[in-house]
Amino acid sequence: MSQTLPAAIPASVFERCADAIVDAARELSALGWTPATSSNFSMRVDAGHAAITVSGKHKGRLGRGDIMLIDPDGHPVGTDARPSAETALHTQIYRRWPEVNVVLHTHSRVQSVASRLFAADGVMRLQGWELQKAIAGYHSHESVLEIPVFPNTQHMPELVARIDAWLDAGKPLAAYLIDGHGIYTWGHDMAETRRHLEALEFLLGCELDLKRLRAS
Ligand SMILES: [Zn+2]
Repeated sequence: MSQTLPAAIPASVFERCADAIVDAARELSALGWTPATSSNFSMRVDAGHAAITVSGKHKGRLGRGDIMLIDPDGHPVGTDARPSAETALHTQIYRRWPEVNVVLHTHSRVQSVASRLFAADGVMRLQGWELQKAIAGYHSHESVLEIPVFPNTQHMPELVARIDAWLDAGKPLAAYLIDGHGIYTWGHDMAETRRHLEALEFLLGCELDLKRLRAS
């Protein structure tokens, strides 16, 4: 796939973003968190553009050509490629937080099962875990980390509206689950966002283990 860049974006800048996404995708795929071409990843390139994975590719085998440029509305820029079906969720995060530069979305087994289990509550409430401190803004295991679980839909504007409603109610948001689907999280850079994703995967797994053990 060929990507023509706007004059304001040097090739080296786009390639650095594309390579960071490709590397993260390969590693997350190796962990089994991106089954069957699912999941999508993006990185802000400049104030008006983000790089994002194209739709439908195996995330363990991406190359630079599988990363494309989009504008703030999620429209392709300088390419015929089709961005991920969930692009609107990425652009929403960049719109809401100018300081966020990376968005990662995966579909691990733990994330998928946890989303089903807590969907009826609409939220997963984490407290008492040391690893909550891996999430930016959380400084103690005593803090309460709320991960909302939104109903799944193929109609992205519906999901965007639910997330906007959560944020407009003034509630903190570090990540969200989509029922039967997966997780979204974000951060200043790739390292912070990877840390968030790994911490959340661990915390969700611990909660599932506790539920299982208490039930037995
Ligand atoms: Zn998805």
